[in-house]
Amino acid sequence: MLNILKEYFGYDSFRPQQKEIIANVIDKKDTLVLMPTGGGKSLCYQLPALMMEGTAVIISPLISLMKDQVESLQSNGISAYALNSSNNDAENFQIRRSCVQGKIKILYISPEKVLSEINYLLKDIHIALIAIDEAHCISQWGHDFRPEYTQLKTLRDEFPEVPIIALTATADKITKEDIIKQLNLHEPKIFVSSFDRPNLSLEVRRGYKTNDKNRIILKFIDRHPNESGIIYCMSRNTTEKVAIMLKHHGLGVAVYHAGLNNKDRDKAQNDFINDRVQIVCATIAFGMGIDKSNVRWVIHYNLPKSIENYYQEIGRAGRDGLESDTLLFYSLSDLVMLSKFAAESGQQTINKEKLRRMQQYAEADICRRRILLNYFGETMDHDCGNCDVCKNPPQRFDGTVLVQKALSAIARTNEKISIYMLINILKGGVNKELIDKGYNKLKTYGVGRDIPAKDWNDYLMQMLNLGYFEIAYNENNHIKMTSLGKRVLFGQEKALLAVLRHEEVKPKPKKKTKAIAEEQLFSDKSMVSHETEDKALFEQLRLLRSKFAEEQKIPAYIVLSDKTLHLIAGKKPTTINEFGLINGIGDYKKEKYGNDFVTEINKFLNNEN
Ligand code: ADP
Ligand code: MG
Repeated sequence: MLNILKEYFGYDSFRPQQKEIIANVIDKKDTLVLMPTGGGKSLCYQLPALMMEGTAVIISPLISLMKDQVESLQSNGISAYALNSSNNDAENFQIRRSCVQGKIKILYISPEKVLSEINYLLKDIHIALIAIDEAHCISQWGHDFRPEYTQLKTLRDEFPEVPIIALTATADKITKEDIIKQLNLHEPKIFVSSFDRPNLSLEVRRGYKTNDKNRIILKFIDRHPNESGIIYCMSRNTTEKVAIMLKHHGLGVAVYHAGLNNKDRDKAQNDFINDRVQIVCATIAFGMGIDKSNVRWVIHYNLPKSIENYYQEIGRAGRDGLESDTLLFYSLSDLVMLSKFAAESGQQTINKEKLRRMQQYAEADICRRRILLNYFGETMDHDCGNCDVCKNPPQRFDGTVLVQKALSAIARTNEKISIYMLINILKGGVNKELIDKGYNKLKTYGVGRDIPAKDWNDYLMQMLNLGYFEIAYNENNHIKMTSLGKRVLFGQEKALLAVLRHEEVKPKPKKKTKAIAEEQLFSDKSMVSHETEDKALFEQLRLLRSKFAEEQKIPAYIVLSDKTLHLIAGKKPTTINEFGLINGIGDYKKEKYGNDFVTEINKFLNNEN
């Protein structure tokens, strides 16, 4: 197994669980794999495919995913093809013929095609194994439900001797049980990996105005020159606005949302995958069809509606295991909007609860990763050291008087005002409605003049989260005091608030943590030695990689992953054999690229001396 891993994929060791899963498949047993995004699920069926006789049939829901995997396998010299509606008849004919002749090791196929081929092609070939990727698509409870997936259960009966392996990154209990039942898996062995992604840094910023957000985003991107990233926004409109702002600052940006036609959407996706644009501003529709391994950062411009959504979206960063940064913005207006959506949705109770958990995460003052893992049913017994709370724990102060000022204003207006009006009253502002209603005559009018409106906004959000008041979304967003709030107002309870921070959270020193995150995550044997990596050399090699990518019309990360490129820049191999020893270089890539890379490195070293 290890020899094949090195020969074809160029890796020196397995990641957690991979070896056991592969052994189970080779043993011809049914298998269910629950592993986070980027955990390395593909290898769990690709490696057995190379070791077993016949053709492995892989069912995958999206053409773009198949394309990515096929290109990546072919780039390692493996005979892999995809049968789907994007091929023309001649191509399909050729693929079918090669299959029957036993010339294809790995065949990707869409669920529709599988169903129509059960009694034809599939009966004519020797099937080694059947893999069902993105298996959560079978469940109506989760996201991405695909009706065709539910008919895949006939496969178990039609091919009783063939092992089936189902894989997904969605680990909740309902989905898991659904997959086993619906696919009719036979006494499957279930492998559950940790969902921790220690290479993703977590950061949340609360209550920023557009201008401040933009400033922070630009600074953040500045720390990631030339590195691919995604900015998720709540609305189409926002994606456009953010994109214009970034373009204005000279950055390469594409927009992606459901309002675009297919052609424009494909273009945005392809430009991103092929590094023609650095950034995509997208609604949540973006990402499912993308296996780009070198997305280095994800920003949420708005609060996501659930932790599942959030985790899946940030999970698109750092699939290659290298350190990647995530940043979430969270504002009161997001919350108001999302609460409204939740209230109007079909599954009110669930969606409100999910939003509440998301909000708690954003507001948290304990290690954020502990909250995430806890949410997914894993317990973590230590703080992660790679989230903003760990790096910079919040400080608290006695904010009772401040809270009382706000609550008293709410009480004196008979709970008939919005947050906006409340801040206006506290600040002693003048607007027509305020004067008309006589709020300028209240005792609390202007008592909060000394505090900037922006800070009031932030304190009020804390008060909301501490449960001192609620917002009645069905009553023009009017504020209603809770019984806990009343106790604070009447001095029976103290209120501890977090000190506001206006300064930036300092980015940690890069080099060292990169190596550490790497080690914790997958303990791949050959470590990236960024200490000795030369930036100029890396840049030169990156350009060489782009050249190969353009020539072959495949994405750069498929030519060589970022991680492998860093290793090359660090180890500086000067012979083809040394080049072949690098993690991520199999025999095929050694032959194909070795000479050019080694020549480039030698040239660089000679120039240096
Ligand atoms: P998933 O499908 O679980 O999201 P992938 O199968 O796409 O993840 O793998 C993510 C990345 O990890 C890929 O770039 C893959 O080449 C890499 N990878 C997988 N297994 C190993 C391994 N044993 N050693 C090093 N890298 C690996
Ligand atoms: Mg996958």
